[in-house]
Amino acid sequence: MECAIDIRPPPSVSEQQTREIAEAGRTFGALGWTPATSSNFSVRVDEQHAAITISGRDKGNLSVEDIMVVDLQGRPVGTDSQPSAETALHVQIYRRFPGAGAVLHTHSRNQTVASRRFAAAGMIRFEGWELQKAIAGHKTHKSVLDLPVFANSQDMTDLEQAVDDWLDAGRPLYGYLIDGHGIYTWGADIAEARRHLEAFEFLLGCELDLLRLASANLAEASRPT
Ligand SMILES: [Zn+2]
Repeated sequence: MECAIDIRPPPSVSEQQTREIAEAGRTFGALGWTPATSSNFSVRVDEQHAAITISGRDKGNLSVEDIMVVDLQGRPVGTDSQPSAETALHVQIYRRFPGAGAVLHTHSRNQTVASRRFAAAGMIRFEGWELQKAIAGHKTHKSVLDLPVFANSQDMTDLEQAVDDWLDAGRPLYGYLIDGHGIYTWGADIAEARRHLEAFEFLLGCELDLLRLASANLAEASRPT
């Protein structure tokens, strides 16, 4: 049976929110973190709604027409546009973290390569890096910061389940990688979400560099003299 029709006007996205999403798109697009129209960004509009980029749009050149409102079940509100399948992962974060105000999802090389490298371990543990302090609640480089790697799936319910399982086990979560795919992270507002994304990108680059140096040293050591 059909639900009663909601006759309230759809919540509108403020100019500032549109600008914030567009600026994030421009920045991360210019850095090469959103190749081939991939990636998506969202901000919370109110307790029940979020504004999210429409799939397939060029993230380096976003305007108000490229952003739509969805409810926290991922259904479009006040528009005929269809949200991308990954909208489900954004709204899950807003449901699970009432304090989350923005969610960013990108596909940089570091994020994607690291997701493959650490998929078997199921997570990357950061320890001893000063930049861990960029992640909310981390006051010292001596803290431990785990970034899980979940198996990729085209069925978003599989990924939602993986996130729910991690959180239901009581484990802290500030972002996650999807194997062969990219990263999700979020924050209280877009500024914090951007800080988290930049910090994870930097930390992943450092871990990959350490692995490259270790294998270069090994190759050097095994070279015949
Ligand atoms: Zn993606």
